[in-house]
Formats: sequence, structure tokens, C-alpha cells
Amino acid sequence: MRIRRNCSDDKEFKKNALELTTRLKARGYPKKIISKAYMRAKNANREDILKPKYRIPEKKTRLITTYNNQWQDIYRILGRNWNILLTEPKLESYIDATPTITSRKARNLKDILVKSHFKRQGDSTGGKKLTGSFACGNCNICQYMLPSNEFEDPIDGKRHHLKHYINCRTRNVVYAITCSCPKVYIGQTSQELRKRIQKHLSTISTARRDIGKDRSLTSVASHFHHYHGGFLHQTRRSSFTICT
Ligand SMILES: [Zn+2]
Ligand SMILES: [Zn+2]
Repeated sequence: MRIRRNCSDDKEFKKNALELTTRLKARGYPKKIISKAYMRAKNANREDILKPKYRIPEKKTRLITTYNNQWQDIYRILGRNWNILLTEPKLESYIDATPTITSRKARNLKDILVKSHFKRQGDSTGGKKLTGSFACGNCNICQYMLPSNEFEDPIDGKRHHLKHYINCRTRNVVYAITCSCPKVYIGQTSQELRKRIQKHLSTISTARRDIGKDRSLTSVASHFHHYHGGFLHQTRRSSFTICT
């Protein structure tokens, strides 16, 4: 029906309908149902389908309940006793001659078995906003993150409290790479912190090749290449303040 509505000429309709038929067959739909649906769509007048359908608003009252395995029993009991309701003249105008029941979807296995493991941040801190730098727990940069809720100014040595929540995936971050020697590199990035750090790591690992090709090194790559032979061990990277 949808294809009939969307295709303005017959040729296009037939082509698309054939495609859909093949797909449905492959999924194991019975031939009879497919051909019945096809004939119904083919014989439908496109102008008619394009007209929006108006549903007559329902006046009668329905019984809406969640589906359960006693559904058949409910239906039987209602059917058996429905005439009692019909004998009441005031009720008669509100109900149909036979009971109308609508079922709501019941909880299925998925609903019962699958529970979300995610907790909203702040739940564990009693509603207080969580601040500080953290590892996201799911990337190769986590090992370099220094979990902390404060940082030390490398120039005057003053300690400052982190006012925001920062992890490997935070954007717009000012960060410090602290070397064991102990040099500190301060950088800033508007991209995800882990993307930025990954770039640093790759420039360090390709430093030797880049020198061979006469390419200039970034200051971080140059430091690790010249002072530490390109090794990263004992390196800790800690994110600093956020500047948005
Ligand atoms: Zn991470
Ligand atoms: Zn160093």
C-alpha cells in the first residue's frame, strides 16, 4: 500500500512491488498473504489512498487492560454477563452490544531480564555535582588520566580545585602532560581530550621516522624523543581546568 501511495506511475509501482515481494518471500512470508496484499494494493485507486483517513471518534467505552494469560477467561465472563449491563437503560448508550476489550502490551522477557546499568551521575554523591578529572573507563587514554579533584599550578605551585567534571571524552579542556623528569606541557584542545592525547602519542611514536624525513617535531614529541628515547613509561597525563 505504501508503495502504491508513493509511486506515481504504474511501472514504478510494479518494479518496487516486485522487489518487496522478493524480500518478503526471502523472510518466509506465505505466498498467499503476499499475493493477496499485492492484489489489494494494485486494485486500490491511488487518489483514494492519498486522501487522509478520518476516523469516526469512538463514543463507546472500552475495557483496556494489560494482556495476560487469563485474557480468554475475562472475555468469556464478560460475554456471559454482558446482558446484565445492557438491561440498565442509562448504561446502554455508553457501551456496545458486545464487550470491546483492548489489550496493552504486557511485560515481555526483555523487559524483565534487561536492566540498565547506567546510573545518573551525581546519584552516588547524594545529588551533589561530581567534579574533578576521571578516566572514562573505556578508552586507551584512561591509563594516562590522573584522577584528581584538584591541580597544581606548575608556575606558582598553588593548588586549585576543579570546578567541572572532566574525563577522556570531554571537549574544550586545558590539560597538562606531566613527565617524570619532571617537565610539564600545558595544552588546550577543543576536540575530545582523548583524541588530542592520541595525537600526541602518535607524534611521539613516529618521531624517529619524522626526523628521518626532515619533518619538524611537536614539542611533546621532541621532548620524549630526545630525553627519553621515545618512551612513554612513567608518564602521567592529567587534565586540568576546563575553559569553555
Ligand atoms: Zn578513557
Ligand atoms: Zn621528560
